[in-house]
Amino acid sequence: MLRRRCAATAAVVSRPAVAKSDDEWRADLTPAQYRVLRRSGTERAFSGEYWNCHDDGTYHCAACDAPLFTSQSKFDSGTGWPSFTEPAVAEAVTMHGDRRMLIRRTEVRCRCCGSHLGHVFPDGSGPTRDRFCINSCSLRLRPATGATGDTGTRGTSGATTGATGAADASGEGSATG
Ligand SMILES: [Zn+2]
Repeated sequence: MLRRRCAATAAVVSRPAVAKSDDEWRADLTPAQYRVLRRSGTERAFSGEYWNCHDDGTYHCAACDAPLFTSQSKFDSGTGWPSFTEPAVAEAVTMHGDRRMLIRRTEVRCRCCGSHLGHVFPDGSGPTRDRFCINSCSLRLRPATGATGDTGTRGTSGATTGATGAADASGEGSATG
């Protein structure tokens, strides 16, 4: 586990930074992706592809394909956005203060390409209490069964994300309006 994490860290850190012009991003992304990733937009809750996805795999940046989150850290937050307790490796993302709304928020961006992914809130269910609230269209899920050259650690029937219900639907959704 630890060794895998180190290898993943090395893989992330050694990735070259992606720098494209605004026109290039606009050409490469769908309009919805461009609005979220490059204009810090927010997709509507419960509208994205992954908020209710329970497949095993790694969630990559939809803009530059850097690995960002794993299905192991994904949990049902009840907010309508894919939620994670932590990034795949800490170096995969960068945090930025965001004061565009009345409440202070911490914006999460892809380290490799600087694209907007979502926000992190301190109301998660994991040990760190972090909830990485990420837009589906910022992500692309690569299924775990895809032969990515790793050791054959598949077939562990996944779905071990604690069925804790995440019953704290206390209106956190408004935090992303
Ligand atoms: Zn990226």
